[in-house]
Amino acid sequence: MAGPCDFDVVVAGGGPAGCAAAAALAQLGQSVLLVDAGVDRHKQLSGELLHPTGVRALRELGFSEVVDAWLSCPVRGFAIFYASPARVVVLPYKDGAAGLSLEHSALTVPLLDAVVRRPGVTLLAGARVTSVEHNDERGVRLRFLHDGGVHEVRARLLVASDGRASPVRRMLGISENYTRISTMLGLCVDSACLPRPEHGHKFVGGPLYALAYAIQPGVARVMVDLPLGTTPQTLMERPELLATLPPALVAEIRRAMDATSTLRMASNDVRLSERVWKGSAVLVGDAASCCHPLSGSGMTSCFQDARALQDALRRHSDDIPRALEQYARTRRPAQRTRVALASSLYTACAGQDEGMQALRLGLIRYWDCSPRSARAAMSLLSSEDSRMSVLAREYLFIVGHSLMALRPGHQRAVRPRAAVSLLRSAGPPLRAALGSTLEQVESWCHRRFRHLRRHARPLGQGAAQGCPRIQPVAPAAPVHGA
Ligand SMILES: Cc1cc2nc3c(=O)[nH]c(=O)nc-3n(C[C@H](O)[C@H](O)[C@H](O)COP(=O)(O)OP(=O)(O)OC[C@H]3O[C@@H](n4cnc5c(N)ncnc54)[C@H](O)[C@@H]3O)c2cc1C
Repeated sequence: MAGPCDFDVVVAGGGPAGCAAAAALAQLGQSVLLVDAGVDRHKQLSGELLHPTGVRALRELGFSEVVDAWLSCPVRGFAIFYASPARVVVLPYKDGAAGLSLEHSALTVPLLDAVVRRPGVTLLAGARVTSVEHNDERGVRLRFLHDGGVHEVRARLLVASDGRASPVRRMLGISENYTRISTMLGLCVDSACLPRPEHGHKFVGGPLYALAYAIQPGVARVMVDLPLGTTPQTLMERPELLATLPPALVAEIRRAMDATSTLRMASNDVRLSERVWKGSAVLVGDAASCCHPLSGSGMTSCFQDARALQDALRRHSDDIPRALEQYARTRRPAQRTRVALASSLYTACAGQDEGMQALRLGLIRYWDCSPRSARAAMSLLSSEDSRMSVLAREYLFIVGHSLMALRPGHQRAVRPRAAVSLLRSAGPPLRAALGSTLEQVESWCHRRFRHLRRHARPLGQGAAQGCPRIQPVAPAAPVHGA
């Protein structure tokens, strides 16, 4: 793309990922235009629980003042409530760390307010990107709607952080793998009905899977996972669906459903972009990948994406494609683990067949009998540990405990169907672990090959040639009327 840029970077979308990316790039001295369509966050059912890893990443991005000012509730880990046998297992964070939870708009609006006060960041609120006119390794040109007019802007880099439906991803011609899983029904209840107020609650093994946590003093969010084809009306008509939840919580859910004002819905999807960068455009946050929210890792992943992008651009400031390639390589293993974990855990928690019932027995036995395994599980869930090999190892241990629980002489005789289903469920995490290992080897070979090639290159033919360094542009009229 010839001609000067208006900004170093355009960030499309001002949610958790966009705010974090804008802050990360402003920290590098970039001029950033943040274009946000302005979804009403007060009406959204979305991220509210933040793991310690996410809190840490936010602080590293310079949001400590925001974090300290939040009226949030502490989260010490997850408490898993099993329906049958009735048991509670606590999964603590590593080293006694604490996460936090607060209502979605109370979490996100201050982030946006804070990022626009950063030097170098300009916000256009209520502005919607409508087309990407040009995108190659030298820069991007895009159009957006603002104040009733169409405007055009040029930048060295486009960061698409416009959420899981990501219109910008489609404009870039990047396809995705999309699976709809279920629908989440969210309600506000009195937090006094939660048995473990300082934990994220997961209720598993009943007809429906549910989670709950405090979002402000006295108020808790409850989310009930409705399988496809089920609606809130089904819950009203079939009270037995909630029968395995604590009675005080059920009473609160019924009360909240009658007062429909706090009722929110969201679809639970898996969306994986076929690639996360193209030309001078890169996807971050849910636009790049999202999964079922049971691990509560979506926002942590957004902040880690911003940090990874910052690191990559710091390292390869003179070569955007190379920086974006590094970003993609850095985030991929962690995303693979996050998505595989969410998918395996969702099947284990919500699955109704004999194999999954046995898997739940294995989970109780394994997490209950060993504090190490409970901590390992929480480290994976909170993205503190993103090694696929650890996920595969822990999964195999759980399957082993499940098979033991099915052994004759224990609670039941071995049921061949349950055993087959159990062993089959270990397939996806093991395949993902294998794929991840192969990818690491491939990536190592690629880096090695690149290194050798660079050293063999005659002087004066560096990677930076023909690829201008990303640096603040001269102050110019920020946007052009089209
Ligand atoms: C039910 C549910 C519960 C969840 N619970 C948790 C949890 O407890 N913890 C957790 O960490 N995560 C949770 N998540 C996931 C978390 O909400 C997401 O990972 C996170 O919100 C993604 O942030 P984002 O910035 O990528 O996208 P979004 O939050 O979707 O923000 C996208 C932004 O892009 C803007 N936009 C859209 N189109 C355009 C356009 N064309 N031009 C410009 N701007 C545009 C929108 O206005 C919006 O501001 C949950 C998700 C769901 C569905």
